[in-house]
Amino acid sequence: MAHPIINEDECIGCGICVDACPQDVLAVEGSVAVVENEDSCIGCGECLEECPMGAITEIAED
Ligand code: SF4
Ligand code: SF4
Repeated sequence: MAHPIINEDECIGCGICVDACPQDVLAVEGSVAVVENEDSCIGCGECLEECPMGAITEIAED
């Protein structure tokens, strides 16, 4: 199952990744992005490409 890895130290909670995700996998809680619906992730990489901070470091497969 694919899922994004988020570096909480770099994330500014802007929500761009939330909007970029076609599967509603991500949410911003407090001031940091979190993986809310991991089972829905299709590994497309849109969140990683759109993050302005490079806070999504990889799309992991496991
Ligand atoms: S890889 Fe694609 S489906 Fe998965 S969280 Fe990122 S934007 Fe959403
Ligand atoms: S786009 Fe990047 S900086 Fe913005 S909320 Fe998502 S992970 Fe955090």
